[in-house]
Parts: sequence; C-alpha cells; structure tokens
Amino acid sequence: MRIVALETLRPAFQKNLCVVVLHTEDGQVGLGDAFMQSAAVEAYLHDHVAPLLVGQEHPSPEAVSQLLAPYVGFQGGGVEVRGNGAVDIALWDLLGRHTGLPVARLLGGPVRAEIPVYNTCAGPDYIQDTSRQTSANWGAVEGRYEDLTAFLNTPGALAKELRAEGLRGMKVWPFDHAAEASGGTRITPAEMDRALAVVREIRDAVGMDLDLMVELHGLWSRQAAVEICHALEPLQPFWVEDPVRPDAVDALGALCDEVGVPIATGETALGRRGFLPMLGQGRISYCTVDVQWTGGLTEARKVATLADTFAVPVAPHDCTGPITLAACFHLTMAQPNALVQETVRAFLRTWYPRVVEGLPEIRNGLARLNDSPGLGLTLTADLRTDPGTRCRVTELTTVKGRS
Ligand SMILES: [Mg+2]
Repeated sequence: MRIVALETLRPAFQKNLCVVVLHTEDGQVGLGDAFMQSAAVEAYLHDHVAPLLVGQEHPSPEAVSQLLAPYVGFQGGGVEVRGNGAVDIALWDLLGRHTGLPVARLLGGPVRAEIPVYNTCAGPDYIQDTSRQTSANWGAVEGRYEDLTAFLNTPGALAKELRAEGLRGMKVWPFDHAAEASGGTRITPAEMDRALAVVREIRDAVGMDLDLMVELHGLWSRQAAVEICHALEPLQPFWVEDPVRPDAVDALGALCDEVGVPIATGETALGRRGFLPMLGQGRISYCTVDVQWTGGLTEARKVATLADTFAVPVAPHDCTGPITLAACFHLTMAQPNALVQETVRAFLRTWYPRVVEGLPEIRNGLARLNDSPGLGLTLTADLRTDPGTRCRVTELTTVKGRS
C-alpha cells in the first residue's frame, strides 16, 4: 500500500472545497476533503505533506498524524489541521479498501445499523465564497432547497415539509442578523422578537414533534447569549449551539450554569485538548465535533471517546464536504455515544453528489451504511473532467529522495 501520488481537486462549484486523493502503487485511491480556504490547504498539502507522505509504505493514520503534527498552526483548526484531517480521512479510506472492510468496522463497530439525522436549514450555496460566517456568505435566496430563506420567511411551512420527509430535527440561526448589527454585544427587544418569532412559528406548526436546534455560531458575548438562551427556554429547543466561542471556556461555563437550555458546542474546537476544558467543567450537553476540522477520524474518535467519559453524546458537524460526512457516518455507526448526525439536504441533493457517489441513503430521517470497503465512495467522473476543476498532483517521481 505504498503511496505514489497526492492529488487535489478544487471544484469551481464550491470554492471552499479541496478534495484529496491518495494514490497507491497497486491502483487504490483513498479520498478525503478539506473545507475553508481551499487554495491555502492545497498549497500546504503539496508543499509540506506530499514530500513527507508520498513514497511511504503502509502509512497508518496514527503514525501519519504524528508525522504531520505541525509545530505551529495546530490550534483552532488552521490550514495545517484541515489538510492533515483530509489526509487522515483518506488514509482510513485506503485502509478500508486495502482490507476490504468498511471504516466503521475498522473503528471497532458497528454498534448500530442506522443513525438519525437532522437537517441544517442552509441553501445549496451556503458558505460558497469565503470562509467567513456572515450573512454575506449565505448564498442565493431563491430556488429549490433554499431552506435558509425558508426558515427566515416561512419557518412553519418548512418545519412541516421536513417532518413530512421523516426528519426528526431541524437547525436554524435566526439571531445572526442581530449579532452582526451589534458585533454580538447586545440584542434589542425588537431583534429578539423577530428571531423568536421564527422559533415560535416552528413550534406552532409541528409542536414538539421535531427536535429544534438553534445555532448562534459563537457570535455573541456572554450576557447577550444568556438573554437569548433565557428567551428560548419556554420554546424548549433541543439544544442551543455555540452561544459563545468554544474557546471562551470560562464564559461558556458561566453561561451553562445560568441558562435552562441544553448547550451544544465544538465544531471549531480542536482535538482532545480543545474539548477537555469544556467537558471537564461538566456543563456542555452535546459535543458537535467536526471530524475533519478537528484533525481527522484518528483524533475525532478520541474526542468522541473523551466525551463519552464525561457522559456527553456526540453529534458530528456537517457542512464541511461529502467525504467528511461519510467519515462522520462511519464514526457514528461505531461510536456508542453517537446521538445524531447533522446533514444538509440542500447539499445532499445538489453539490455533494457532484463530488462523490455512494453516500449513505437517508430514509425516514435515518441513515444506513452499506458494506462497501473504506468510506464506500467513488469520485464522480465529472469532477476531474470539469474544466472548472483545478487539479494538482504531486507524484513519487517529483518527491526528492523518494523515487
Ligand atoms: Mg454549528
């Protein structure tokens, strides 16, 4: 299983995505993806990772994660971590293909046959252009599966539509405009009313028949976040997500003590060391680790197990690419404390299938894996041939001292 080339593909239709393909001597490929600042990740992978990785015989994910550990850029999910996370996911995929086993089995599972999913109400173009979490990066406002527009304007109808599809949960972020207006420092009564109306309308439409996740994107200061959480308490959200930045650990702990809603956090937290201070306080209710942003499956499963030690379920983050989502499903099938998997129907039905085939089928709000080796994915033929896709390859012959 000697690695002979590292290839990256950056599609024009999603500028934040960098697909990583590891090629082996015997013609196998392992797939991974990195999301946000794809050009910087691409440069890092070819300049730094390929010279270390290409030419390696039987590279194990654990050994490579040690090999690639950077001296700087390892906190907070920097370019290095996202690149390493994509490589790690590709190595698990390769290992599965090499052994003929699904990654969920390599991880010691499965412990379940299916996992519930919830829908994050983004549109197809959400986070398309830049890596910033602002309304300027929310994408188009009209079209099929524009669930962001729908939750802002017709939240009750959207909730009914999702429930009719069999989904058991939905996530919305009606407070973000108010956070932008004040830099997260305060929310006016009028802004609070407007945002709460979205949540109220969902509850009026479907009652408690749908789990409701309210996303705050870590945009708020503590006092404003506390006020929002208090206002949400009567509407019984399943969780409030990232009320403040997850690295504002003391503020998060104080907030969790003050409010009467469950708190989920962690998609931008990094690794065991990033999660331990939050889990150690015994206050967060759900761990929303991002399998790629936290450094790959090798680290994510340790985070999930650490969360289990503190009796906290994991609910992995999506929005970071279809290959990462597949890795999430393999993790949740193998992880005893997995609760639910985030998905975005607008991505699953538009650009995710333009990258790969073979993602798990979701029926009645439940995802089920098949027995395909590795992650079970195949790159679409169109991705390489699309003239808008930027392809770059570092081969064994070009890596100094390794040919
Ligand atoms: Mg989130």
